[in-house]
Amino acid sequence: MVSISGIRGIVGDTLTPEVLINFASAFGEFCGKGKIIVGRDSRVTGEMVQNFVVSALNSVGCDVVEIGIVPTPTVQMMVEKFHAAGGIAVTASHNPIEWNAMKLISGTGLFLDGEEGEKVIEIAKNKSYTLATYDKIGKVEKYEKAIEDHIHSVLDLKFIDVDLIRSKKFKVALDTVNGAGGTTIPQLLETLGCEVVGLNLEPNGIFAHTPEPVPQNLTDLMEVVKSSKSDLGIAIDPDADRCALISEEGKPLSEEYTLALAVKLLLPKRNGTVVTNLSTTLAVDKIAESYGAKVIRTAVGEINVAKKMKEITSTIGGEGNGGVILGDVHYGRDSLVAVALTLQHLAEFGGKISALHKSLPQFSICKKKIELGEINPDAVLEKIAEMFKNEILDFTDGLKICRENSWIHLRKSNTEPIVRVITEAPTSEEAESLADEFVKLALEK
Ligand code: MG
Repeated sequence: MVSISGIRGIVGDTLTPEVLINFASAFGEFCGKGKIIVGRDSRVTGEMVQNFVVSALNSVGCDVVEIGIVPTPTVQMMVEKFHAAGGIAVTASHNPIEWNAMKLISGTGLFLDGEEGEKVIEIAKNKSYTLATYDKIGKVEKYEKAIEDHIHSVLDLKFIDVDLIRSKKFKVALDTVNGAGGTTIPQLLETLGCEVVGLNLEPNGIFAHTPEPVPQNLTDLMEVVKSSKSDLGIAIDPDADRCALISEEGKPLSEEYTLALAVKLLLPKRNGTVVTNLSTTLAVDKIAESYGAKVIRTAVGEINVAKKMKEITSTIGGEGNGGVILGDVHYGRDSLVAVALTLQHLAEFGGKISALHKSLPQFSICKKKIELGEINPDAVLEKIAEMFKNEILDFTDGLKICRENSWIHLRKSNTEPIVRVITEAPTSEEAESLADEFVKLALEK
């Protein structure tokens, strides 16, 4: 699948050497044949895919800095550090083991936006890249300290009090699902004086469970948090940009609260505008409101949030899927940032994570799919917009109906005849009945 943010497919099926070479060459051309940072997650196909990517980049004259098995945000950071022309993270994020992908990063350290992505696709389609002659092919250099650099830049943040966190001697149960976070996150936690109870830490790409860090996939971690009497459970996705939290009682906080906690920690320290997407929890707005801060909502998609943050130099933002973005480090979701902010928060709070969670505004999100069959999704959105025209409507990304303590967000899929309905309300029951109401409305003649 080719999209603006990258090329994704099943290895040995759609993600062939030809596809990899074509797109990597096109990306090299797009980057003006400059220096490219290449890193990968721990997938079993990672080395093979990376070798094609690196050779293709060299073949069009790009020098490559290989940084090894690293979190995706580390690739973004290294693009900035090396003043590189771009970066490629070889990762399919939370997709299953048979998938792999290239995530493309521009010279700014941000993922490609729509326009940039289109340019790369165009170059690839027309194969309009020029191959270098023998004396101009690119070179490969290895850089082994990317993870160390990344950890340092997080620990150097002025609102991270390393001594305070160390003094708490937190016990943390950690599940990195055998992904790229398996070496990085334990290193970060140990530097912060934590005792790590590790689960699936070996970065061998054999995912021990379905990799997305959502509650149904984290049952082992929940058990381990309880049995080991840990202060906290942390789940990281395979390319370590997302972070989900489990309370000391073994209960998931919902990924939405990783960002809510970060916002709550930061706003009293330095006020500023929070940027997040339309489908992220209202808890963020309520917290921001209590500090007199503004929230800007963008279309769904990390690049939309990151670009807006950069544009207005917002310092804190992210997505409700456990993706915290801190402008101080770089404009991309970063689980290292999320982990450090969470521990700082817990250390300052001085109580249990469950109590800290309860101190935040409580909301619950419900997500459903509406199978439309022959019904036109645009007509459904128009019909519902008309029905609720007296309420506050947002058309930035599909249709969102915004209420004081709840919202309904309807988005059509570009690939299937469905509309996704996402709702949020103070309780899970209310969120679910709200979703059911809109499923029914959508299907009514
Ligand atoms: Mg990811």
